[in-house]
Amino acid sequence: MIKVSNVTKIYDKQRALDNVSFEVSKGDITGFLGPNGAGKSTMMKIITCYIPATQGIINVEGFDTLEQSIEVRKQVGYLPEHNPLYLDMYVKEYLSFVAGLHLPDSQIKNRVDEMIELTGLTVEMKKKIGALSKGYRQRVGLAQAMIHNPKVLILDEPTSGLDPNQLIEIRALIKNLGKEKTVILSTHIMQEVTAICNRVI
Ligand code: ADP
Repeated sequence: MIKVSNVTKIYDKQRALDNVSFEVSKGDITGFLGPNGAGKSTMMKIITCYIPATQGIINVEGFDTLEQSIEVRKQVGYLPEHNPLYLDMYVKEYLSFVAGLHLPDSQIKNRVDEMIELTGLTVEMKKKIGALSKGYRQRVGLAQAMIHNPKVLILDEPTSGLDPNQLIEIRALIKNLGKEKTVILSTHIMQEVTAICNRVI
């Protein structure tokens, strides 16, 4: 559950968000639809505690993003725009590294194996991330976002740049994940919202 109340964000002189309020519940896959510059990424960065709002309150699974930021981060998986990854790391090595940020050592191996299976990375898991196609890199990004089994998933343009086959696969994956979680994804493609989301903002 995410509750955004009267959020405004001003970067220097640029007002990126102006008094925005909405709620998203468990089981919802909510699409942020809007042209470039509408403020989608800014809202996602605020929900995931990357940057603070100028004004307003955000509550994620009962925790306040300013006062209880560590708790919020435990609840949230985030796939940032352009999916930043360490290209020189091997898939398994990278996922183990990310898992180690969240989980005790004893759980890392099992969790990484589970994520590789769930995101369909098995055939490519021995490669360096830099050697993967865009679709498989997106899978690595999704796997890293979900490695700590968060209740909330924030996905910034998760399907941008994918070819039609990859698009279908990644959409199906997100739709499947969304049944158990609270998901917000951003896109500027109308058809994407119809294909994946049950709500649009
Ligand atoms: P979207 O994700 O919908 O494309 P953004 O949230 O990236 O929109 O951007 C919203 C507005 O805020 C844009 O006008 C953008 O130029 C501006 N903006 C985003 N990040 C910064 C920043 N770090 N400093 C100044 N302006 C920014």
